[in-house]
Amino acid sequence: MIDKFPKEKIRAVHDQDLEKLLDGLGILGKFKHGELKCKFCRSAITFDNLHSIFPQSGDIKLVCDSSKCVRTLSKLLREEEISL
Ligand SMILES: [Zn+2]
Repeated sequence: MIDKFPKEKIRAVHDQDLEKLLDGLGILGKFKHGELKCKFCRSAITFDNLHSIFPQSGDIKLVCDSSKCVRTLSKLLREEEISL
C-alpha cells in the first residue's frame, strides 16, 4: 500500500521547514495552539501527527498520519487530481 502512495504529490515537510511553511501560509499561530484539525477525522494536528498539507478550494487542508486518513487522502488526490 505504502509504495502506491503518490509521494511525489505530497509536499514533504521536515520539522525545521514546517514552521516556516506554516508561517508562510499564515496558520502557524493556529497550529501552535492546536486549532488545526485533520481534514478527515478532525483530530488536532501536531508536529507529531502531521502527515501532509495541501491546498483545496482556496483553503489549506491538513491531514494526520493515521492510516485511515492517509488512505483517504491518497484516494482524494487520485480522484480530484490535486496538484501541490
Ligand atoms: Zn485524520
